[in-house]
Amino acid sequence: MNLYNTLTRQKEELKPLKRGTIGLYCCGPTVYNYAHIGNLRTFLFEDFLRRALEFSGYKVNQVMNITDVGHLTSDADEGEDKMAKGAKREHKTVWEIAKEYTDAFFADVDALNIRRATRYPRATDHIREMIALIRRLEKNGFTYVAGGNVYFDTSKLNDYGKLAGAAFVGTRHALSLQDVARVETDPNKKHPRNFVLWFTESKHGNQDMQWESPWGRGFPGWHIECSAMSMKYLGDHFDIHCGGIDHISVHHTNEIAQSEGALGKEWVHTWLHGNFLTIKDARMAKSGGNFLTLQVLKDKGFDALDYRYFCLQAHYSQELTFSWEGLDAAKTALRRLKEKIKKILVETQNFASKTQKTKNKYLSSFTAALADDLNMPQALALVWELVDDGTISAMDKLSTVQEMDKVLGLKLDEKTTFDIPEGIRKLVDQRNAARAKKDWKASDALRDQIQAAGYVVKDESGRTVVEPK
Ligand code: AMP
Ligand code: ZN
Repeated sequence: MNLYNTLTRQKEELKPLKRGTIGLYCCGPTVYNYAHIGNLRTFLFEDFLRRALEFSGYKVNQVMNITDVGHLTSDADEGEDKMAKGAKREHKTVWEIAKEYTDAFFADVDALNIRRATRYPRATDHIREMIALIRRLEKNGFTYVAGGNVYFDTSKLNDYGKLAGAAFVGTRHALSLQDVARVETDPNKKHPRNFVLWFTESKHGNQDMQWESPWGRGFPGWHIECSAMSMKYLGDHFDIHCGGIDHISVHHTNEIAQSEGALGKEWVHTWLHGNFLTIKDARMAKSGGNFLTLQVLKDKGFDALDYRYFCLQAHYSQELTFSWEGLDAAKTALRRLKEKIKKILVETQNFASKTQKTKNKYLSSFTAALADDLNMPQALALVWELVDDGTISAMDKLSTVQEMDKVLGLKLDEKTTFDIPEGIRKLVDQRNAARAKKDWKASDALRDQIQAAGYVVKDESGRTVVEPK
């Protein structure tokens, strides 16, 4: 697999730390509201990656965190606490909000046919690990306390900011540089890019979620959870870390600072970032009017998998603009593809014995597309080429499509998978024989018998073709 590594700004061959397995960490949802379809685009990209790795033979240990504490409305310690904001909006406790939107997140994951990660650790279940990591940073001299909070001192780290560094300009993630400029002014920060590891003096009033710590009762900053939980479940070093491009300049930069400050050496080598879903030139965000959820799509008559198909059409590194027309086109394309596959299936079920199994080039091209920085649009184009290729047998087409769908996850042969029982096959053979003899009476009687058993009977090119009603 060759993947574009944000850290080195080039495509690199993936070299697993442990033969045959990949440790993959993906920043998960902040559960104070529904995920919007932009968030879901990133989770889909991570699912394509995970499936592609599994397709290539790796065992993938995928961890995705559930952020239920500490994330402020600005990623850089400013603004309101997101969970508290959700609780206020709905007149509920933060714990109720966390439960409600974690459940909603999993419903979206399942509807989109995203494979469940190996683990979904919750931040609030890992306060102990976060405190231990902050203590380690304290010992290594990277922290200071000011105004009651514990801060990470970024000036102590030589290569702080390497992920979003200056060489960034003009590359595919250039947008993040603007985020870097958007720093804020907490008087306790000796440097604007320092960040909070632990809050005791909260500017957010009486915070419901609080824990005892060596620095006083309080709650963790946002970034520390990902360092603590990824290292707990994937080891000190693991293979790939993912998220959306908005995470490059602050969240992932600070995750690297904390983890490398504790470890004293490089933490994770390969960083992959999914680009934004936008709507009419604006980034989709939970605040503001651009907030579309999967439910809104469903209410308009779309299936979750129509959106999955829509996302497959763009490379993960490219911005994707959402439009209802675009989603409608994806829906039509998916329906047409499934119809073609259903025809192929009917063909294999009716004439399997007469269809020779052939070898085809499509699976190797498909594998090559995945290995080329996860080129899903190319992979999708290959399915279309395959189903329309007259030189490939139906049996072979079907088995190849089923293989490809392990990565695409579109359920391409769903509701079209059926077996025609032996008894019905015999009736079909008898009917074909009767028709060959022009015994129309017998042919009609046999058709009625097959229909009564629950099958649709069609005559195609002089042959009887059946499929379940
Ligand atoms: P959050 O729930 O805000 O922590 O975000 C969950 C994931 O969605 C993160 O990986 C973000 O980087 C990603 N994300 C946020 N906004 C967008 C967007 N408009 N398009 C694609 N991904 C996004
Ligand atoms: Zn994270």
